[in-house]
Amino acid sequence: MATKKGSKAVVKSTVQIMKEKTAARAKQARKPGASPKKAAVPKAEKGPAKKGMSARLIAQVAAAPKAYATDDLKYFREMILAKRKETIEELDSLKESMMDVTTGEYISESSNYSLHMEQGTDAMEREKTFLFASRGSKFVNQLDDALARIEAKTYGVCKTCGLLVPKERLEAVPTAQTCAEYKNTGLPCEKGRIALAKKKAGK
Ligand SMILES: [Zn+2]
Repeated sequence: MATKKGSKAVVKSTVQIMKEKTAARAKQARKPGASPKKAAVPKAEKGPAKKGMSARLIAQVAAAPKAYATDDLKYFREMILAKRKETIEELDSLKESMMDVTTGEYISESSNYSLHMEQGTDAMEREKTFLFASRGSKFVNQLDDALARIEAKTYGVCKTCGLLVPKERLEAVPTAQTCAEYKNTGLPCEKGRIALAKKKAGK
């Protein structure tokens, strides 16, 4: 009996200890959980920082050049002419390969089976070749349009917001007529929105 009572007491005290420990843990958790205050601090900091950033953007848009300088246009012209030459050379070699297909070289093959196979791959190859060729000639047309824009000094000006498309983008996509942001999302970038708002207000 005495042992039973004793064990009961032990159990009781263990439960008590556990309760106390839990309470202490909760208290401790609440202490660094000054989280409501902590969360409020960055929020207060975020407001003015964002305002400062947009003020900087507005200033940048106001100071932004309306066209690329002559030297830049010259550089782009060289770049586009080189791309154009390269594409035309590729087109010429494609045309040659199409000619080979139409001369019917494969028909002289002996077995019917191989004739069939050759024709199958021929058709596929021809389709691919035509696809490449039509893409290529489209690209040459677009490059010609870009050259015309260089002559007009409007090359590199975004069609949407009127800001200059970054040089790196024009180097990667010389036929680009809008900023990457607009191309990818259908919406102007932050600077572009400022420029558009200004345009609307100014005119
Ligand atoms: Zn733009």
